[in-house]
Amino acid sequence: MDLFEYQARDLFAKHGVPVLDGDVIETPEAARAIAERFGGRAVVKAQVKVGGRGKAGGVKLAADPADAVAKAEAILGMDIKGHTVNKVMLAQTADIKEEYYVSFLLDRTNRTFLAMASVEGGVEIEVVAEENPDALAKIPVDANEGCTPAKAAEIVAAAKFPAEIADQVADVLVKLWKVFIAEDALLVEVNPLIKSGDGKIIALDGKVSLDENAEFRQPHHAELEDKAAANPLEAAAKAKGLNYVKLDGEVGIIGNGAGLVMSTLDVVAYAGEEHGGVKPANFLDIGGGASAEVMANGLEIILGDPDVKSVFVNVFGGITACDAVANGIVQALALLEEKGEAVTKPLVVRLDGNNAELGRKILTDANHPLVQQVDTMDGAAARAAELANK
Ligand code: GDP
Ligand code: MN
Repeated sequence: MDLFEYQARDLFAKHGVPVLDGDVIETPEAARAIAERFGGRAVVKAQVKVGGRGKAGGVKLAADPADAVAKAEAILGMDIKGHTVNKVMLAQTADIKEEYYVSFLLDRTNRTFLAMASVEGGVEIEVVAEENPDALAKIPVDANEGCTPAKAAEIVAAAKFPAEIADQVADVLVKLWKVFIAEDALLVEVNPLIKSGDGKIIALDGKVSLDENAEFRQPHHAELEDKAAANPLEAAAKAKGLNYVKLDGEVGIIGNGAGLVMSTLDVVAYAGEEHGGVKPANFLDIGGGASAEVMANGLEIILGDPDVKSVFVNVFGGITACDAVANGIVQALALLEEKGEAVTKPLVVRLDGNNAELGRKILTDANHPLVQQVDTMDGAAARAAELANK
């Protein structure tokens, strides 16, 4: 989960990383009192989860409280690379002498953590990495040892920070590492880390990405979720504990096992080429169980998606045999009808694997008017695509 700048800033402050005072607002008029609190001048910054806000006009200096209101009004509602600005942060202005870059991230390729640092910050770090790779120091950080003061000094030396600020930058690195570990982050990045007129090192812009797999031990992270941006179907699926991702096609997909569902998406997209270009509408893995309740929950989410025109239920019976899944489907349809949810979209079901014969017989006997069976995955995908294209 990526955080907004103001949320990253809060986490930095919590772990002692030096930041400037700031406050987030959603209406222009609210900017006045905050600018007054800062003594008149303020930086007005668009809160969107995308970089390069400065270049796009989303970071502006305000000279006085009235100007802060005007700048907030100009930035609120702005579109930055497809992201609408619903919030702006007002921050204390900084007297910038130098702009640096520092980050910690998970380096999956090398199976380690990585520190990156550069004295050429402020600009996009991808550009530095591309045009002047020697200016970007990359130092692995051992997961068990972490960023000790000695490791921080090594990073500072590798990036060639000036001697007079070396200790301060090393101290910031140790604290930033605390953010990284204590908050279960996948990335913490400061760009720019600045040297101010009076020689202080301050984190002026922060980017943090949290590891959602650590949610169970980070209960307070739930509050950081951007509920306004969450897809309502995905939110409903999450509440039901389903592994669901909304896509933009027309064929609803339910399968058991992530690998099977992934290949189902491919097969449906391929079949769709013959049928008006229809595509999968979602990813949904109901896992091993596939009880009537799980099936009903899955169907409810998928049938509630107005984009869905047909549904493909693709099951390979393993430990949970096909007869159990077939019973799950029959009971799920009954459950939904009991709840008054009209099931009006055709379901194409393919059962294979353990007890497939019995499963197919259960569906045949149930004789539900919207359920059709096709024995092969390719055949079923083609049928579902055809129905979605009607
Ligand atoms: P980004 O473009 O999305 O990375 O947004 P940043 O927060 O990094 O801001 C972009 C640039 O605006 C920074 O690199 C600074 O040069 C400038 N900036 C941000 N805050 C201040 C400030 O308080 N004072 C001054 N003078 N410049 C600032
Ligand atoms: Mn930045």
